[in-house]
Amino acid sequence: MKSEQWAAKPSRTARFVERHRYRLNVPILVYHRVPKDAAQRDDWALPLDDFRAQMAYLAGNAIAVCPLDDFWGAYRSHRPLARKSVVLTFDDGYAATCENVEAVLDQYDYPATLFLTTGVIGQRDPLNAQGEGVLMWEQVRALRRLRVEAHSVTHPRLSLLGVPAVRQEVRVCKETIEDALGRAINHFAYPYGGYNRAVRAEVRDAGYESAYAAHLGPATFQDDPFQFHRILLDGHTTLDVFARRVQSGFLSRREATAARVRTRLFRVPGVHDVAERRKARRI
Ligand SMILES: [Zn+2]
Repeated sequence: MKSEQWAAKPSRTARFVERHRYRLNVPILVYHRVPKDAAQRDDWALPLDDFRAQMAYLAGNAIAVCPLDDFWGAYRSHRPLARKSVVLTFDDGYAATCENVEAVLDQYDYPATLFLTTGVIGQRDPLNAQGEGVLMWEQVRALRRLRVEAHSVTHPRLSLLGVPAVRQEVRVCKETIEDALGRAINHFAYPYGGYNRAVRAEVRDAGYESAYAAHLGPATFQDDPFQFHRILLDGHTTLDVFARRVQSGFLSRREATAARVRTRLFRVPGVHDVAERRKARRI
């Protein structure tokens, strides 16, 4: 019995070959607000016409939009996706944005994910969003294209909180959405992309399968499942920049090299925590 188990275990070389046999290179795009009024353009608001042009670019260039769960399934089974693909994600849960976006997604039959902040549901402009309020629960339940996942209760920078408060944020958010929608919530996006080892451990222990940060670049098999890359598309993203981001994830070789170095460094325990502390101090 013992020798059978031994024989079944693949060699280090076989594991290396298996690990590098396929590539996964999926830009996971993150948006915040998509207002109809182009005058509202700012770092967090991409006007609807720009968003529509971006979706038309994807359709016209045979780039598939895949659900987050398909990306996650590919990552977990270590198999590539069938086509060049991107994932669309929206953070926070702005009411008008969700309505605007779903109309465009309907047109193209595209799926997307909404990382929802539960503690501000139904409130009017709780996140300083030029007057745009957050969805009410009945609107959350009525979403067609946006599949809801979790984004904390009060949208704090989690790395600045103590463990009990982090635990509360990640668990209560999950339970609240699960109770409201009657299904499991498996994925979490860190507010402000901010996390450290303690936060990451709390998210994992709360029962989430994966978590999404804000490190620039496409998500790959090299990513840690609790610190996936996501590409932030701010309101000043031109169609040319969008095209380059979805084609390769990066705008230059230098940016790509910097991201590769960063990914490797962040695998060393404690290195990301130092970077996060510095970032949090600047806020
Ligand atoms: Zn957010």
